[in-house]
Amino acid sequence: MISLGVMSGMNDSIDFDTAAIVAEELGAKVEHEVTITIEDRLFEDEEDATEDLVKRDPIVVVMGHVDHGKTSLLDKIRNSEVTSSEAGGITQHIGAYRVHDKAKNSITFLDTPGHEAFTSMRMRGANMTDIAILVVAADDGIMPQTVEAINHAKAAKVSIIVAINKIDKPEADVNRVKQELTEHGLVPEEWGGSTICVPVSAKTGEGIEQLLEMVDLVAEVKELKANPNRFAKGAVVEAYLDKGRGPVATLLVQNGTLHVGDSLIAGVSVGRVRAMLNDKGKEVEEAGPSTPVEIIGLSEVPSAGDTFNAVANEKLARDLVDKRKFLEKQEKFSSYNKVTLDNLFSQIEEGERKELPIIVKADVWGSVEAIKSSLEKLSNEEVKVRVIHGAVGAVNKSDVMLANASKAVIIGFNVRPDSVAKRAVKEHGIELRIYRVIYDAIEDVEQAIKGMLKPKIRERDLGTAEVREIYKISSVGTIAGCYITEGKVLRSAQIRLVRDGVVVVEDAIKSLKRFKDDVKEVAKGFECGIGLEKFNDIKVGDVFESFILEEYRD
Ligand code: GDP
Repeated sequence: MISLGVMSGMNDSIDFDTAAIVAEELGAKVEHEVTITIEDRLFEDEEDATEDLVKRDPIVVVMGHVDHGKTSLLDKIRNSEVTSSEAGGITQHIGAYRVHDKAKNSITFLDTPGHEAFTSMRMRGANMTDIAILVVAADDGIMPQTVEAINHAKAAKVSIIVAINKIDKPEADVNRVKQELTEHGLVPEEWGGSTICVPVSAKTGEGIEQLLEMVDLVAEVKELKANPNRFAKGAVVEAYLDKGRGPVATLLVQNGTLHVGDSLIAGVSVGRVRAMLNDKGKEVEEAGPSTPVEIIGLSEVPSAGDTFNAVANEKLARDLVDKRKFLEKQEKFSSYNKVTLDNLFSQIEEGERKELPIIVKADVWGSVEAIKSSLEKLSNEEVKVRVIHGAVGAVNKSDVMLANASKAVIIGFNVRPDSVAKRAVKEHGIELRIYRVIYDAIEDVEQAIKGMLKPKIRERDLGTAEVREIYKISSVGTIAGCYITEGKVLRSAQIRLVRDGVVVVEDAIKSLKRFKDDVKEVAKGFECGIGLEKFNDIKVGDVFESFILEEYRD
């Protein structure tokens, strides 16, 4: 150790690298101590062997602009199922349901239209969707929320199938929709691209069968597979408290099989499956991959989007819940793992980050385009800058949710966040930067990538002084005889002169004296003479607030 230049004694700790070097010289090998977490002991998380995997049904979500027919389409799909199924009864509303196409393939639909629901689930860790059906009304074309939906789906790396809806309307223009899709990077298959577009009418039912066939086709290509012979895991689709039955949760099994009697952990809730209903309201004993079920037996109501795991050891599961609750609390106070331009460089250096997703909102399209292309050009070998969503308008809640789910930074140009977004930004600790000059935005991102972002400057208040007397000295100017009422005044501080609650001026201190002596600082309860650099029109009763400007990083 000494020959390596490391001076440490018998009871000192050394780091792994040093230990490894010394050990190697002595012909020994050092291994990291493996820390086994509760999760490791609780979940069997090894990959499934290929021979254990069987085909599973696709999980589909419907997205699109408001009033383009998402709800109508989901209703139509579900109703056709109700009339065609032998059960024939009323379909339960449990937040997800299975339908069958003509070829008897089944498809699981999430009954939560809209990308906000989709993204909020993703934000909580549940990436359960395989395919997104993008509904675009043929009489209206691509609208702002259509673009949002496209970008939310792309950010989640979900396959998109476009349902061009309302083709029963005389003013429907399917070609126009296809043209507009092309402008957003979705080129229809029939035009040489890879996006499947199906003209449909949620009103007449035309094209719905084809749409389901296309879902099957895409699912086939994706080779969706799961292993039914292991402990179930998946996500909470929705949950609520029922007066009689206690917490009720709709779960979507993604892998494994869930049985009545299984112990279960969902988010920060534990319990045992006491009873299980399928989407037709029938009691079932087990639920395999891609199956939605409603269960009772949890201790508390989990959140939509929480992940769940069936476990062998309920006691350990309770320990994990304690740990999760602790971490949740901690997360609230720390900005760890949040992306900000300030911590970007350290994340790149530590190899934690290879991509910087950005959301751009601006007042006009020209600016969105200009910022987008300039930002993406900043990509280098270490980090790729990618604008995952760009649109005109105020920063809204959907932007913030997308930023949170994708660990993105939001850049606003000449726009402000609306009040809901403002709250969400705070709550989730999202970095939102507003600019008035495009060049500033680009420069900040560039500097951030290089780790040279200038620190931000903020004012730190030091104390207040009251002006009690005025001395006019011909050679020096006005000197204020002050009494420090709060904190202190530093010679190096800045002064904010407040008169009747209004800031009159901000100025630097030219002289700070106690009696005849120059001093560096004066504390609360003492008197002093203060002369300002430029401002001379000081009056008795003025208040001096002293503060310093300090640099900081988030
Ligand atoms: P959502 O906001 O996307 O869920 O849209 P809705 O499903 O609520 O539909 C909005 C309106 O469009 C409703 O008045 C529907 O009746 C109507 N609508 C939906 N699909 C069709 C369609 O295929 N043809 C016609 N003519 N109207 C439709």
